[in-house]
Amino acid sequence: MQAAARYVALAALAVASAGRARAQSALPLKHAPLATQTAITAADLMTRLYLYADDSMMGRSAGTEYNLKATAYIGSEVKRIGLIPAGDSGSYFQNVPLVQRGLAGASHFAIDSVPLRLWEDYLPRDQGGATHPIDNTQAVFAGAWGDSAMLAPDQAAGKFVVIAMSRHPNPGQPGWFVPRAGASTRYKNAAAVAVVSLDSMPAQLRGFFKNPQVMMSGGPTPPEQPSYLYLTAAAARQLLGRSPDSATVGMTGKTVRGGLNFVETSAPARNVVAILRGSDPKLRSEYVAIGAHNDHIGFDHSPLDHDSIRAFNDAERKLELASPNHQVTPEQAAQIKVNVDSLHRLNPPRRDSIFNGADDDGSGTTAVLEIAEAFAGAKVKPKRSIIFVWHTGEELGLFGSQYFTDNPTIPRDSIVAQLNMDMVGRGRADDESGGGPGYLQLIGTRRLSTELGDVIEKVNKARKQPFTFDYQFDAAGHPEQYYCRSDHYMYARYGIPIAFFTTGSHRDYHQVTDEPEYIDYDKLAHVAQFVYDVATTVANLDHRVVVDKPKPDPHGNCVQ
Ligand SMILES: [Zn+2]
Repeated sequence: MQAAARYVALAALAVASAGRARAQSALPLKHAPLATQTAITAADLMTRLYLYADDSMMGRSAGTEYNLKATAYIGSEVKRIGLIPAGDSGSYFQNVPLVQRGLAGASHFAIDSVPLRLWEDYLPRDQGGATHPIDNTQAVFAGAWGDSAMLAPDQAAGKFVVIAMSRHPNPGQPGWFVPRAGASTRYKNAAAVAVVSLDSMPAQLRGFFKNPQVMMSGGPTPPEQPSYLYLTAAAARQLLGRSPDSATVGMTGKTVRGGLNFVETSAPARNVVAILRGSDPKLRSEYVAIGAHNDHIGFDHSPLDHDSIRAFNDAERKLELASPNHQVTPEQAAQIKVNVDSLHRLNPPRRDSIFNGADDDGSGTTAVLEIAEAFAGAKVKPKRSIIFVWHTGEELGLFGSQYFTDNPTIPRDSIVAQLNMDMVGRGRADDESGGGPGYLQLIGTRRLSTELGDVIEKVNKARKQPFTFDYQFDAAGHPEQYYCRSDHYMYARYGIPIAFFTTGSHRDYHQVTDEPEYIDYDKLAHVAQFVYDVATTVANLDHRVVVDKPKPDPHGNCVQ
């Protein structure tokens, strides 16, 4: 599942609190020939997932060679299973045109003729498009962000504007924080906006800003903006000829030399698309789509101690589940840290830097493979066809599903429903309140088609051990925004009825500890079998599931 901003902050906090240190799984890295059977089994899912979420996959990030490696495994499996290729030009792969934007090699920045050190004295940010040139511009001091006496925008035109950190940051906001969009808009005619906050910016955030961004190519070109960067106080002093603390608003400084440019290079990423032909000559031109996402969030350059992170998050989750408002107090968090630190002293660290994404979304990916294998081996095929799509770039912004639904390899209106699985291998009692073997969250099942929601309930009632559905995350306006945070939404925006199956978030979400050893394989097999049964029922109906709710604007914003 895609990260909500809140999660990024939480994960960073947990990592920082748990201390730095890495675990390695002792798995064979070569792909052994797989001996899976036709039926959907826990053992097959385990075989597949230990391979798919192995360290050798390096976190499967879209835009990297590891996404090609992960999708090559899926491609080889669907070929072996005997599905029909439905990607680009007769292959199983649909390339998704992602680009990586990073700082151009020729970028440099000097005051008069004295060069500044990239990342140490200054840190440039990507404004997403072209920026005004900075060569031969004069520095001017704009005051502290948020002060009423700040430099007027018209006095900043063509200048290199230096902003000091806010003297009165909003509650809950770090002192170094200046809203980039706000500052860029206020001084839109300036050559550059430089914020004197680099000294107090957390190292983890600096590391994050250094990474090139991966995005979809061919988006609208944003208007030219000022360059944007962060400076140390020492660099600002050099630039202004005095400390920003004693500088006055409107004071001019030295001349800037150089240029800061971001360039795009293509970044490898692909969907895997395969079809099982339906048995009914008329209905086989319609499709039930089953999907998951093939990517995860890659790896980090600073290894962490697997066991410390897990111990911290484990203790924290227990307290969250026990507390009525699911909150951990700062005192409780501090106590956990003390305990984890003492454990840490006793046990040698197992360093880990790879986000394996076993649950997110290795679980969904392997479940779709098991479903595909079961359909391919079934004596009686469903009447409608089944299209299997393993989407790329979900974590970066639902890019693969956006691209597939914008550029479908079958007619878009031939897709009668899409069933999405993202994180379907957890949901135990210690993961979720109300969790257990039969716990399953459903999202979006009645948002376009009441009938689809009813079919899912009916198929469930017929099970020997029915699931207990948790619909709380489907509520309109729910702050977790699950309806907008995985691939199904990209289908729903075109009016295709969807169902999102998930066992929910947990303490290993987007951590290096999301590993195959923590997956509930029986549960995963039950979810896969259930989705197989739902797909079969929908594919065999004598009519398309009826859309009886309003369709969203395909190019508007998602509304939870
Ligand atoms: Zn995710």
